[in-house]
Amino acid sequence: MKQGIHPDYKEAAVSCSCGNTFKTGSVKENIVIEFCNECHPFYTGRQKFASADGRVDRFNKKYGIK
Ligand SMILES: [Zn+2]
Repeated sequence: MKQGIHPDYKEAAVSCSCGNTFKTGSVKENIVIEFCNECHPFYTGRQKFASADGRVDRFNKKYGIK
């Protein structure tokens, strides 16, 4: 790897909105994300968020989706 091409790559502390934190490699030192692999709908099957605010329920009713 040539020097001077890539930005500094260091360990970053990632904070998720669910409260989960973990370390990853990044050019930033601190990262705040909305979803991590602990709470992302893709991993949780969406139920957590669907029941949290009812937005999906309302959407489903509006469009007749069961
Ligand atoms: Zn999370």
